[in-house]
Amino acid sequence: MNVLKFGGTSVGSVENINRVISILENYSKEDGVICVVSAVGGITDKLLKAGELAQNKNKNYISDFETIKGIHLNILSELNPKLAQSVKTTLEEKLESLKSLLDGIYLINELSPKTSDKLLSFGELLSSYIIAETMKARGLNAVRKNSQDLIVTNSNFTKAEVNYELTNANIKDYFNKAKQRITILPGFISKSQSGEITTLGRGGSDFTAAIVAAALKVNRLEIWTDVSGMYTANPKLVKQAYPIETLSYQEAMELSHFGAKVLYPPTVQPVLDQGIPIHIKNTLDPEAVGTIISDNVNGKTSPVKGISNIDKIVLLTLQGSGMIGIPGFSKRLFETLAQEKVNVILITQASSEHSICIGIDLKDLERAKTAIDANFENEISLHKIDPIIVETELSIVALVGDQMKSHQGISGKMFSALGRNNINVRAIAQGASERNISAVIAEKDIKKALNTLHDKFFEGNMKQLNVFITGVGNVGQRLIEQIRTQQKYLKQNLKINMRVIGLSNSRTMVFNEHGLSLGDWKSQLGKGEKSSLQGFFDRIKQFNLRNSIFVDVTANQDVSNLYKDYLRQSIAVVACNKIACSSDFKNYSDLKRLSRKYNAEFLFETNVGAGLPVIDTLNNLIASGDKILSIQAVLSGSLNYVFNHFDDTVKFHDVVKQAQEEGYTEPDPRTDLGGVDVARKILILARESGAEMDLDAIENQSFLTKANLESKSVDDFYKSLLADEAHFQRLYASAKANKCKLKYVAEFNNGKAKVGLKEIPEGHPFYDLKGKDNIVMFYTQRYPEQPMTIKGAGAGADVTASGLFADIIKIGND
Ligand code: ADP
Ligand code: ASP
Ligand code: MG
Repeated sequence: MNVLKFGGTSVGSVENINRVISILENYSKEDGVICVVSAVGGITDKLLKAGELAQNKNKNYISDFETIKGIHLNILSELNPKLAQSVKTTLEEKLESLKSLLDGIYLINELSPKTSDKLLSFGELLSSYIIAETMKARGLNAVRKNSQDLIVTNSNFTKAEVNYELTNANIKDYFNKAKQRITILPGFISKSQSGEITTLGRGGSDFTAAIVAAALKVNRLEIWTDVSGMYTANPKLVKQAYPIETLSYQEAMELSHFGAKVLYPPTVQPVLDQGIPIHIKNTLDPEAVGTIISDNVNGKTSPVKGISNIDKIVLLTLQGSGMIGIPGFSKRLFETLAQEKVNVILITQASSEHSICIGIDLKDLERAKTAIDANFENEISLHKIDPIIVETELSIVALVGDQMKSHQGISGKMFSALGRNNINVRAIAQGASERNISAVIAEKDIKKALNTLHDKFFEGNMKQLNVFITGVGNVGQRLIEQIRTQQKYLKQNLKINMRVIGLSNSRTMVFNEHGLSLGDWKSQLGKGEKSSLQGFFDRIKQFNLRNSIFVDVTANQDVSNLYKDYLRQSIAVVACNKIACSSDFKNYSDLKRLSRKYNAEFLFETNVGAGLPVIDTLNNLIASGDKILSIQAVLSGSLNYVFNHFDDTVKFHDVVKQAQEEGYTEPDPRTDLGGVDVARKILILARESGAEMDLDAIENQSFLTKANLESKSVDDFYKSLLADEAHFQRLYASAKANKCKLKYVAEFNNGKAKVGLKEIPEGHPFYDLKGKDNIVMFYTQRYPEQPMTIKGAGAGADVTASGLFADIIKIGND
């Protein structure tokens, strides 16, 4: 004999019911089949809602009833276009009695648990009737048996307890005599000894099937649902979740108790007692292997088998100095809760005994609070304990696995992963069996927590990076292109899943929570919503994705003003924008502090030398205990270009103009020629070396004339360059006479920094610097004579983009 249970989705449409019938037909060729069915998907909720409307004197219950009626009549007629009128009539009669019940609730304006059970029982009664009649009409040897005649319970309405003695006897008795090949049983519903309709609790059809399977001691129980097994995490919340092949009964129980809805928790017990395996299968994909739950779990399974979650959790904390050492305190608390039928999901007590904290379902809050306040009224009035503290909008996330106990460091890994993503843990519980480690967190963080932990424990440490880019000019575009072409490589070789979730320019912004397709990002951005800096930030915050990274590819002050807000949300900031790091020292150090506090990287390698690893090298030197003695550097691609092209055959003015036209200078060339850009860069290096310095402390020995410096506009500036040509020719002639070349040099020595034009003699490392190359020489305690030198292209969209890319990867590798 086979026992199969089909859930709401499986019997939720004509197409799916046809699948169910063909599965049953196949099974029945081999052996007898008992099929337990749920109500048509969503009907139990609809019945409950109609009942509540009626109870509240809201006439809309009638239209809800009409919807319910329509769904069932449609399914019946579509399944069987030529069905006998008598079957349709019977169905209509059943629906009529449902209507009468709802009318009754409306009239007396009451929906007791007893009436609620009666109301909900219609769901399974209707679905089982339709399926059985359809099978009969198709010539299959099928019958429907009302489970209320078999399963006997107490009168604990809405979640009745089974009387196994009577129930098992009924089941054995009935099936010993049953002649039909296929028996359809409505799940979820039962009867009390005194004949009242009861139910086994929401999701209870699984339980019905387990009770029947155990009573008949069949070889296995099959639960057919809408997913291919019990997954490593709820597949609706974690896209990467996958079905677990085998689970022990205890693991399955623990996962289902902690929210894996795919299996109703009480289901396990009856079959566990008989050693009957449970096979979870997918009606929509019958070939999929599914999950087998049994005693027989292969030895080498991973320590963490699944991650589950429960929402709508409330934490109650009872504390007070009067609690210490008072025996029986916890006993009283738990007795109070038990009397009120409050299910305690989680308990933690500090060893100081100063406080005890319990997690319960939100729906039990009022009952629990009132009962506790009443029971401890005396102690509260004597200030021995404080009034109960209630915290709401919480969820539990739990790791489950039999083998966790024999592996160290799992909880450490769990909490550090949560911490890194700014997920605050409100309470922790670990059972003595160590089969479950639970953390209570804010409800809004649950998806992020599940995904973070799933990355950590199930994807071979694959790390998902969620990138948001603002600024899609030359550099931004190259960066997107580099990400697009490297995505596959990063996954395969670095275990980094880099996704671009948001893009913006000054006009529009576009988002896709699952990652934008980077092939046609331009057209997507073109059609995007109107952008704003605050709007971009708000959306990133709202997404609340793990490992979120904000990339600033602008040169905009307003963008950099938001870095602090990003860091406070534990969103990493990667910037090629130099403004923040060269702003006043307080702002710079605040950003560094926030980055540490919120565990969010703040990286700006491209601020100096574009893609050259200047800041990273400097940080590594210092971290390893070295001390910076001096820095000598040529840091301006623009000024290099200018002085590499300038000699006595050309006008200085023309060279500058050409540099600008070829894109080597800022739109306003005064920023480059005046030395401000280089001063900012040496300031950043000085600060990263440990100096507390501001921009105005940097000595700027300008090579420009007074007239150049005082020019009011770019045009004026060019005019003054032309007028002062002789001055620039003198600079050149002097260098030439000294067998030197002109280079614009930045220096940091003994806590002081300066920038200026210098005559560099032959043989000096700066002498042969070509094109837009940069060079940085670090003289340190370990490199006192031969400096640590970094040299290469220090400007250009491609190298700057690759510097940003390297910063992003660095976050992935952390
Ligand atoms: P049925 O109606 O077939 O009984 P349920 O809706 O009760 O189906 O249970 C199946 C659903 O359980 C899935 O669609 C999925 O959304 C949810 N679920 C939650 N956690 C898990 C998990 N760990 N594995 C599989 N499904 C899960
Ligand atoms: N129909 C019931 C419910 O929705 C029982 C079940 O589907 O398992 O809770
Ligand atoms: Mg279910």
